[in-house]
Amino acid sequence: MTTLSFEFFPTKTEEGTEKLLKVRDELAAFNPEFFSVTYGAGGSTRDRTYAIVKAIQERGIAAAPHLSCVGDSKEDLRSLLNEYKDLGINRIVTLRGDLPSGAGLASSELRYANELVEFIREETGDHFTLEVAAYPEMHPQATSFEKDLEHFVNKVKAGADSAITQYFFNADSYFNFVDRVRDMGVDIPIIPGIMPITNYSKLARFSDACGAEIPRWIRKQLEAYGDNNDSIQQFGEEVVTEMCHRLLEGGAPGIHFYTLNQSEASLRVWRNLI
Ligand code: FAD
Repeated sequence: MTTLSFEFFPTKTEEGTEKLLKVRDELAAFNPEFFSVTYGAGGSTRDRTYAIVKAIQERGIAAAPHLSCVGDSKEDLRSLLNEYKDLGINRIVTLRGDLPSGAGLASSELRYANELVEFIREETGDHFTLEVAAYPEMHPQATSFEKDLEHFVNKVKAGADSAITQYFFNADSYFNFVDRVRDMGVDIPIIPGIMPITNYSKLARFSDACGAEIPRWIRKQLEAYGDNNDSIQQFGEEVVTEMCHRLLEGGAPGIHFYTLNQSEASLRVWRNLI
């Protein structure tokens, strides 16, 4: 069975939250396995993430809060884990996180995602299903692809159940990553994270920051469309749908959409796949 999940970020205003709840309802009609909600490293969105997670859970769909360790104390993490347990949450996306300044790593009690996975297992046993992040095109701060693969394997050995990838636009990078970690003994599901294409300049900025490569032929075509949003969206839908087809045919166990709190672009792709 192909799994489906959607990612949101916590809203800042009441109006934004109302819109997001509508998006939640539109997407809920497709029976996703869960909605995940991002977390600002250092706890900057702690209350807002919690509020959205609660609103999803109340709609009767599983919510999976993201939780990052850099800049949060063990005590903060422990109390948040207990709050989530009380709310009936049973899945967490377990991350290191990025503090805006890049500071905080040295002084953090837990410095890497594998340490957070270990901590959650120590504190809560098998209560939570733990997702971790995977980087088919290498994490931007990794010293080498080999090292990054080793660090990924460490997160799995620490007790992760499943992984979600950073987005990419080249299916071969996903297949290569999966082959490499399978050879290293990893057998958990690795779900491709998919970013629908709706706006070129935003996508280019995002991709530079997180180390996701936009292949030249896609970049050039998007640039050529200029401000013609309809063409960008149509081309984006075709490119992303085609890649998702390849991923699923090649054995990817499901799709996790980075929705950016919008339903339309993800649903256009998903409807082409089902
Ligand atoms: P790690 O697995 O700890 O890896 C981070 C880097 O450190 C890698 O380069 C790795 O190779 C290296 N490394 C790991 N272990 C060691 C070690 N023992 N010694 C030396 N180097 C090591 N960020 C947020 O702030 N909030 C979110 O909600 C959020 N959600 C995300 C969801 C997904 C699906 C993905 C893919 C990313 C998300 N991010 C989020 C971004 C993520 O926090 C950043 O990419 C962060 O820089 C790394 O997090 P990680 O969990 O992959 O870290």
